[in-house]
Amino acid sequence: MTIFNLGSINWDHCYQVSHFVRPGETLSAKSYNLNLGGKGANQSVAASKAGASIKHIGAVAKGDAAIEVLQQLGVDTSGIEQQTERVTGHAIIQIDSDAENAIVLHSGANGALNWQWVQQQLSQGQPGDWLLMQNETNLLEQSARFARQQGMQVAFNPAPMDKAITLKLLPQLDLLIVNQVELQDLSEENELEAAIETIQRQSSVNLLITLGSQGALYVSADQRQQVKAFRVDATDTTAAGDTFIGYFLARRCVSDNLGEALQQASAAAALCVTKAGAIASIPDAEQVRTFLE
Ligand code: ATP
Repeated sequence: MTIFNLGSINWDHCYQVSHFVRPGETLSAKSYNLNLGGKGANQSVAASKAGASIKHIGAVAKGDAAIEVLQQLGVDTSGIEQQTERVTGHAIIQIDSDAENAIVLHSGANGALNWQWVQQQLSQGQPGDWLLMQNETNLLEQSARFARQQGMQVAFNPAPMDKAITLKLLPQLDLLIVNQVELQDLSEENELEAAIETIQRQSSVNLLITLGSQGALYVSADQRQQVKAFRVDATDTTAAGDTFIGYFLARRCVSDNLGEALQQASAAAALCVTKAGAIASIPDAEQVRTFLE
């Protein structure tokens, strides 16, 4: 089974500054870091590290180094279009002395995926394969419909949350993966059980809810399974959700054992929060195995 991940690829330009730049001011940064990110790229890397066959579908500027970075991390990058007329998605991130951040985000090629290209990639999907998507690209509904016609299963992580887009997509989905805030925004319910009921009244979609340090919960019409978060020294939760999702789907591709998929995903996400960074903090399968021993 293959995971086709239709998702964003971003370069994060991070500048350490004394204070956020003011109107008209030119400010020298104290340091600079360049990191590959985007929820799409993070989830592709997590699935790859978990051992899945993962094909990323997306777009970057022609010749962008992101393709090589993802390739080296085991992701099939043949579905990433190189566009001549767009820049790669990127964020300009200022981090001040209180560790607060101010971010300018430009979606670039992520928001300009070309349907002909995406359709061509998805037509390689086989019944049972997964299409995974987040809310950082265009073409979500068309892609979900087309994947379903191919007999593929569709998983959606509505981050950042857009209620209208998500509700419209629900009938096309097999699995909806949300964190607590996204679930509340979507259901307009603060309480977990009421939120689940609200979604279940509207759709028969299976739900995977990540609950931060409380673990995660999987709910379908006939199954309900919870996993606790592993107790670790959390230093940076960036990409914890992405790691959970990549590992969970990767395990679902090779086994029907839901409990085991949740356990592996929870262990991988716990390891992720012990390290700083996004892609750099995603553990590989061997590290997860050792952690679980
Ligand atoms: P992020 O946006 O930071 O990537 P998220 O909000 O999408 O994360 P969360 O629900 O916060 O997702 O976390 C995802 C998973 O990561 C949790 O289900 C849990 O398994 C793990 N996790 C998060 N925080 C912790 C923690 N403090 N200790 C152990 N595991 C954690």
